[in-house]
Amino acid sequence: MFIVFEGIDGTGKSTQAKLFSEALTRKNIPHVLTREPGGSSAAENIRSLVLQHEFLPITELLLMIAARNEHWNATIQPALQRGEWVICDRYIDSTRAHQGFEAGIDLGLINQLHELLRIPTKSDHVFILMLDIDVALGRARSRAQQDRYDHFDRPYYEKIYNGFQQLAATGKHYHLIDANRSIEDIHQEILSVIF
Ligand code: ADP
Ligand code: MG
Repeated sequence: MFIVFEGIDGTGKSTQAKLFSEALTRKNIPHVLTREPGGSSAAENIRSLVLQHEFLPITELLLMIAARNEHWNATIQPALQRGEWVICDRYIDSTRAHQGFEAGIDLGLINQLHELLRIPTKSDHVFILMLDIDVALGRARSRAQQDRYDHFDRPYYEKIYNGFQQLAATGKHYHLIDANRSIEDIHQEILSVIF
């Protein structure tokens, strides 16, 4: 199983990915909890670059895909081959939402680049956490460790929010989750989809 958590900043992706991982540990299911951009030594280096600097949209896309290529080959694929589950905080739909829906890059090109590199464009399940944009923005901005994404304006977040909503309609592996609820309620809904 390859399970991804998506949504705009501050929606609770990292919180839910960690809780889900803890539930797998209790069930004795071997798994890897990882994140994007990052998730391998080389990809984490690319992560610090993209969080610190503003690049042209196409450059940012190529950096995100370069990071994913490292992450897929060094972390995700080996874990899946060992028979372990992979729980990933953000994956290709973040690229589609940010570089596609927000920055205007063709979604077909994003798919083509992945296909060229033989990186899967689909995981088994994608939980998209949908939270009121103002609440999400408030949480992201009050975080201790800030990055440049925490300072974008509301229209930027709206484009990404709407992008995720449109993506969710394109496949049965997407699960739109109402994240305007308690951490535990959201966790229970996610568990009920998988188990
Ligand atoms: P993301 O990874 O999507 O940016 P986080 O998991 O880091 O979001 O959560 C952002 C903040 O919101 C954290 O301080 C977290 O404890 C809090 N939080 C997460 N989920 C909820 C929730 N359902 N209700 C209230 N606070 C939450
Ligand atoms: Mg997070």
